[in-house]
Amino acid sequence: MKAKLLSYTNITVPTPPYKKATKVGIVEDENGKRCLVRIEDEDYEILKVGMEGEVEERKTDFGTFNFFIPAVKREKRRKVAAVTGASRGIGNAIALELGRSGFNVVISDLEKTGECDETMKKIAESGGEAIFVQTDVTNLSQVEELMKKTVEKFGRIDVLVNNAGINIDKLVTGMTPEQWQKVIDVDLTGVFYCTKAALPYMIKQGGGRIINISSMSAFDGAVGQANYAAAKGGIISFTKVIAREYAQYNVLCNAIAPGFIKTRMTDAMPPGLFRDRLARNPLGRRGEPEEVAKLVRFLVTEGDYITGQVIGINAGEYV
Ligand code: NAP
Repeated sequence: MKAKLLSYTNITVPTPPYKKATKVGIVEDENGKRCLVRIEDEDYEILKVGMEGEVEERKTDFGTFNFFIPAVKREKRRKVAAVTGASRGIGNAIALELGRSGFNVVISDLEKTGECDETMKKIAESGGEAIFVQTDVTNLSQVEELMKKTVEKFGRIDVLVNNAGINIDKLVTGMTPEQWQKVIDVDLTGVFYCTKAALPYMIKQGGGRIINISSMSAFDGAVGQANYAAAKGGIISFTKVIAREYAQYNVLCNAIAPGFIKTRMTDAMPPGLFRDRLARNPLGRRGEPEEVAKLVRFLVTEGDYITGQVIGINAGEYV
């Protein structure tokens, strides 16, 4: 049935038994008859009062409803991803992978590196756009500025990858309160700040995907990493809460727990420790940052029914 859209709204509080916030509208058919319709999340941003479309009856788990399908097809637009700590290492590989997979990318970090310039160039060559926004994830106002600039530039934030992280390895007896706090601030509080700042945009636009980079150290009792393991374990608990709190708004949140990946972080290991790690790695090699990046890409492009999960990528070093 052909119909014209008279009004529409985003119901942000789900009414039981519906767990999900829905978008609804009122349409009028050619005979002047009005009815209530549902609207797909993806169509919401192109709606305009008075626009023409079709009303289609669809069966859902909660019953049969009328849906309004706008006659104007949504443009195939590039999605938008913001990645923290993306000037080098795993974050840089994630930015490049997403940029090459159809995303516009906001690369943020403490400083812009040559690696970052190279990645921005490659993203541009593949038809995308990338910008750099200097951000310290431990500074809430900088983090809020990062999300604001992302939306000013690209209109939305489809994906947030909380990747920025540091380690300061010491046995607990030799670890100062400052060394403890610094790692908690960057690795855990930074994830809280970025997620908190991105969520209002994701809720308003009808959904989003958050990937938190945790670590195998969260599970492994990694000697010398009490601060790091506590932060990375905290990220996993945080991820599960975000998944439950915001699924109703179509915001999915997962954690990735890498093992032994080839970056500056593992280059800096003492040689004896490095050899031990290699010796107990079933595949006998460090993982490539690009291998982690492909997992992120899978989760944010294909993982529509995956949330609240922790996915290990460690060659079986921890099973
Ligand atoms: P990396 O090469 O050291 O990259 C980390 C990036 O985060 C750097 O560019 C760093 O900037 C940035 N950063 C540090 N503090 C920041 C802050 N306060 N605000 C914003 N950015 C900040 O390390 P990586 O190995 O790629 O690690 C990336 C993530 O993966 C981290 O969360 C790490 O814990 C996790 N991870 C790594 C491994 C591994 O084996 N490599 C394993 C498990 C988990 P600066 O260079 O300026 O300090």
